[in-house]
Amino acid sequence: MVDYLPRTAWGARVAEDGPGSLTVARVEGVAVHWPGMGRRRLGSLSEVASALRGWQNYHMDPKPNGRGWSDIAYQVAVDQAGRAWTLRGLRTQSGANGNTDVNQRFGAVLLVVGSGEHPSPAMIATTREVIRDFQAIYPNCDLIAPHSKVRPDGTDCPGDLVRALIKSGAFTPGTAQEDDMQYTETQIRAMVQAELEEYHRRLWGEGGTAGEFMQRTDAALVRIEESVTPRQPS
Ligand SMILES: [Zn+2]
Repeated sequence: MVDYLPRTAWGARVAEDGPGSLTVARVEGVAVHWPGMGRRRLGSLSEVASALRGWQNYHMDPKPNGRGWSDIAYQVAVDQAGRAWTLRGLRTQSGANGNTDVNQRFGAVLLVVGSGEHPSPAMIATTREVIRDFQAIYPNCDLIAPHSKVRPDGTDCPGDLVRALIKSGAFTPGTAQEDDMQYTETQIRAMVQAELEEYHRRLWGEGGTAGEFMQRTDAALVRIEESVTPRQPS
């Protein structure tokens, strides 16, 4: 079990009446988020604590300046030093995933990274442990998903780098032996690079460029069209 910093560590406001606890049988996965804070980097404990207070204020303050929610939206935050922070906590339903249905079906973990910022080995290791804690409470929690995969209206959250890491299995609790292995920065970069290249290959095909991809797509469409167009009787 991860050692979670308590809400007092970041000076949290008292939560208002909210959605209450998740229903164990209903939870099928956990969604991974980023704060969408641009290229800002947060390192020290006090910087992260201050940012958490800011996000909580934004989520709790009444509209139109805030969102009018009961609390900061996420359940747990993990920072680049590998600290885990109690936000709503693993038992309380989040307000982060997009609507009530996906909030009931998925947990919500926040990775405190800016855009283009690689998660550190410490962040990855702690996130994997947080997800292991989550799965210990919710036995049907098989899916570790980027927020973009579960939000009905779409989102870029949690960014390409985290999406690639999720896909590589870096956050998936595995065997005891695998969990003892700490990824190095170089390994993380290599995993992310491999996933991004694979993604581009699938998007654009072998050969790489968008133009070549369009040419191949056009040629394929012409072939399909020819195969379904009845020949003129000769
Ligand atoms: Zn998100």
